[in-house]
Amino acid sequence: MKPWILALSAFLALGGAARADFDSCKERIKAQAVAKGMSPAMLARALDDLQPNDAASFLGKQPEFSTPIWDYVAGLVDAERIRDGRQRFSENKLAALAAQRRFGVDAAAVVAVWGVESDFGKSFGTRPIIQSLATLACTPNRRSEYFHGELLSALKIVNSGDVVLESFMGSWAGAFGNTQFMPSTFLSLAVDMDGDGKRDVFNSVPDALGSTANFLHRAGWVAGLPWGFEVKLPADYHGPSGRGGKQALAAWAGRGLTRIDGSPLSGPGAYGLLLPAGPRGPAFLVSRNFDAFYSYNAAESYALAIGLLSDGISGGGGIVAPWPTDDPGLDRVERREVQVMLESRGYDVGGKHDGVMGTKTREAIADYQARLGLKRDGRAGKKLLAALRAGK
Ligand code: CA
Repeated sequence: MKPWILALSAFLALGGAARADFDSCKERIKAQAVAKGMSPAMLARALDDLQPNDAASFLGKQPEFSTPIWDYVAGLVDAERIRDGRQRFSENKLAALAAQRRFGVDAAAVVAVWGVESDFGKSFGTRPIIQSLATLACTPNRRSEYFHGELLSALKIVNSGDVVLESFMGSWAGAFGNTQFMPSTFLSLAVDMDGDGKRDVFNSVPDALGSTANFLHRAGWVAGLPWGFEVKLPADYHGPSGRGGKQALAAWAGRGLTRIDGSPLSGPGAYGLLLPAGPRGPAFLVSRNFDAFYSYNAAESYALAIGLLSDGISGGGGIVAPWPTDDPGLDRVERREVQVMLESRGYDVGGKHDGVMGTKTREAIADYQARLGLKRDGRAGKKLLAALRAGK
């Protein structure tokens, strides 16, 4: 494209003043990067022709915070991901166990992070990291300082040669690779586990698993301590809860809690009582290893999904107590079935039956709900699935 066409389209996309702000922000970052010793040629290649993308439109829209916990867990910890996890664990057993030995972190937990972050390497994200971070750093938003730092880190990674600029793709927020590290996390924690001299969290499963184990280790993982387990509360429990108030198992036993099968609590370690859906739903005692998961992504629902998936990969069962809802969530097989059935009724679900409840699918569900006179919330649960299966 000729420079003047580029300038014109940028002007149309952003407006002149915003464009000038974006360009001067990029120049500031470039100067800072040069001062840190990065190559001016690399920086010119990475930044000069860069225009903002749509990354800023995603800020504040993370699904952990807007999805009922039972939908979130049903989609992330389903039979398919547990089966895939066991298979990927066995295929990469040496690498997973090497990571466990070196960092003292449960290998199944590391594989579970891999499964939730990229579906075991199937989806890394397709957005250019530098462009997304430049957008988030250089357009007005309350986290622009943070993204400014991440952009400098991302440029440093390219400068080091660990990642090639052209293949530096990931999420809208700048996370990348098998276990979706942010650039600053990569710089401080990524390790070269396969010994080829590069830290490669895209193409090297050993590097990705080792780096993730290092993250959990540095986040305070205690070797041999369970992340947590499901418990049974006494009827009308009114005692303390929250993962912050950790106490010995004897203290919880004294309040009448037992393991979910009714057996008594015993063993070392301090635990907090997690009630992800309130006192009427499943209850868990969680240790500081749960907090290590939380450090990876600051949502208790996320940490719970990692813990439950790691149990499944290790051969354990799922949650025993039902969620407090009459309309539980769907696994990915059921979500794909919803998409296929909606499409067969003429709805546009975005052309893919991927089990991802994206905007198109949610809009299609809402239209279908309106037609049936149901609550129009765009949510796919067991009731919606039953209605579709009944041919409504
Ligand atoms: Ca390597």
